[in-house]
Amino acid sequence: MEESKSVASMFGCNVFNQQVMRERLTKDVYKAVMQTKKMGTPLNSGVASVVANAMKNWAVEKGATHYTHWFHPMTGVTAEKHDAFLSPNSDGTIILEFSGKELIKGEPDASSFPSGGLRSTFEARGYTAWDPTSDAFIKDGTLYIPTAFCSYTGETLDKKTPLLRSMDVLSEQALRILRLFGNTTATRVFSTAGAEQEYFLVDKALYDKREDLVITGRTLFGAKPPKGQELEDHYFGNIKERISAYMHELDEELWKLGIPAKTKHNEVAPAQHELAPVFETTNIASDHNQLTMELMKKIALKHGLVCLLHEKPFAGVNGSGKHNNWSMSSNDGQNLLDPGDTPTENTQFLTFLVAFIKAVNKYSDLLRLSAASAGNDHRLGANEAPPAIVSMFLGDELQGILDALENDTKAEANSNIKFKIGVDALPSFKKDNTDRNRTSPMAFTGNKFEFRMLGSADSISCTNVIINTAVADVLCEFADELEGAENFNEKLREILVRTYKENKQIIFNGNGYSDEWVKEATEVRGLPNYVSTVDCLPEYLAEKNVAMFEKFKVYSKVEVASRTEVLLDNYCKVINIEALTMIDMVKKQIYPAVMEYTKDVCNALTSMRNAGLENPAQEKLAHKLSGSLNCLNSAVTELEQVLLNAKDNAEDLYKLSRFYRDEVFSKMQSLRAVADELETIVSDKYWPFPVYSELMFKI
Ligand code: ADP
Ligand code: MG
Repeated sequence: MEESKSVASMFGCNVFNQQVMRERLTKDVYKAVMQTKKMGTPLNSGVASVVANAMKNWAVEKGATHYTHWFHPMTGVTAEKHDAFLSPNSDGTIILEFSGKELIKGEPDASSFPSGGLRSTFEARGYTAWDPTSDAFIKDGTLYIPTAFCSYTGETLDKKTPLLRSMDVLSEQALRILRLFGNTTATRVFSTAGAEQEYFLVDKALYDKREDLVITGRTLFGAKPPKGQELEDHYFGNIKERISAYMHELDEELWKLGIPAKTKHNEVAPAQHELAPVFETTNIASDHNQLTMELMKKIALKHGLVCLLHEKPFAGVNGSGKHNNWSMSSNDGQNLLDPGDTPTENTQFLTFLVAFIKAVNKYSDLLRLSAASAGNDHRLGANEAPPAIVSMFLGDELQGILDALENDTKAEANSNIKFKIGVDALPSFKKDNTDRNRTSPMAFTGNKFEFRMLGSADSISCTNVIINTAVADVLCEFADELEGAENFNEKLREILVRTYKENKQIIFNGNGYSDEWVKEATEVRGLPNYVSTVDCLPEYLAEKNVAMFEKFKVYSKVEVASRTEVLLDNYCKVINIEALTMIDMVKKQIYPAVMEYTKDVCNALTSMRNAGLENPAQEKLAHKLSGSLNCLNSAVTELEQVLLNAKDNAEDLYKLSRFYRDEVFSKMQSLRAVADELETIVSDKYWPFPVYSELMFKI
């Protein structure tokens, strides 16, 4: 009882939420803000001034001295610049002030944020604009105001603006469909997301000794330890005290910010864990996921730990992903991807389901690239995450129903209620019937789809922009056809059958990790297989994709180009930094350590010989070490050379990113192989940094 009471009072205590607003705003102002929050309608400046003042008073009472416009530039992490509430009086005293103007708009210097070429085309100045749909909150004595970030001429420079645009677009198109089904109550449809977040925890003292972890977030060297994840004893295993204390504090801090952290458990790899929140609208889920990642890192330090959000911190064991659970609900309380219990609900459900299938099939390239990064390239297609081929899992029962619809036969479901459109309804369809296909990139899980391709460090924004817009695009097509139809049921049936037929090649209920699937997907079904980031990123600008974004005003072509450039540029930089870190570690740590060991081995050998002792094993070791040192030397020289050559491709980002993947990355692999082999023969005493077994098991 005690516990649950304190959780309830803790939850959202640092958030300027609905409850606080109801207490602190006049009825009219409160109503205006709620209207904006629920419907996305703009707020007038008079109302903003009142809200700003109430926000400031509330924040100051809670000890805040500063405010900040908090935004999500295209770096992937959030940005903030703090201003004190203070405003000087002429008599040398100060008053605490925060105006409506300051709440609504900020003007950070945009010139140092990635813009992917937009900066040269447009003005360097940018501004942040308050997003009233995401609640302000207090963190570290500062009032945080969630904002969108745009260039002065209106091009988006962030991850929030397109998400808000895509949510509006989805709402508009989904409402058209709902109206066709006779719904007169819903006035808004929200896309919802629940982001399951995986992460690793390592001991801070050990972490500090690894330049690769400190600089790149992943180990660039490391031989396979005697034990990895093969015993399958970590997944859902009991949680160690130190980790549990961390998780507990993390939960509490998240709750205070109104983030509904719900589930926590150990994951498959040693030292790997997961946190899942309760779903929220995609915009708020995105803000909250950013905050979750930030707090995960910050709180770890308080426990002498470091939280690794990299997609692949350790070779040989699973990397970390982020599952984006997605659905859409209307504000009259329906989850539109819930099959429901009655035939009409089912028909409506089937319409949204078939639209979703087409959206995924038509824009599978965009979905794939929403999960593309140098870090996530280590996961996708590596038999631990979903493959790089986008497919969908529906489960046998749901697929059976769609097949019945296509063939105009009776579905297997134990029901005889007929759809108006001539197929058996699915009232007996149970949510829990969807068995868990863990290998599918996009799995139907009862009343939502789970997109499993994202990497642990990714923002969920891009994925949700794409799902929202793609689904809106197909719903728009459906609505265009249906609104003009003479016979609604007949037309609907025709659309559903046709759409299902044309898109069902994306549905695959089997094992996505198998080689046969890759063959079938690419050779028989013609599904694209973008193995790496550099393969899929150019698709961002494919004609059909730009057409969709422009049609719904989510991105202009220039904005898509700018995003592509930012991502490619990031890809090259990440690999460049990793390569330089490897060179540094080899030259300054590994090479000297192996030299030292080799010297001692040779000295021991000489002493033994002097004592008249034969020692072939020692001699072999000395030879091996000396040979490997030569290999190490040439591998590092080759990597240095290839980095120099990279400069020749610098004028073309597409060429450059290919060069990094084909040439630089493969030289990094060769260098790592030599060093990792050395790690297995050099005595522990000499090896210059903690090895995998320590990092993964000493916690
Ligand atoms: P699993 O690990 O089996 O995939 P979890 O229970 O850990 O399942 O995670 C499921 C996630 O899906 C949670 O974050 C949950 O809030 C989210 N979710 C549930 N319903 C919806 C919905 N309608 N829309 C979006 N996300 C949802
Ligand atoms: Mg999951």
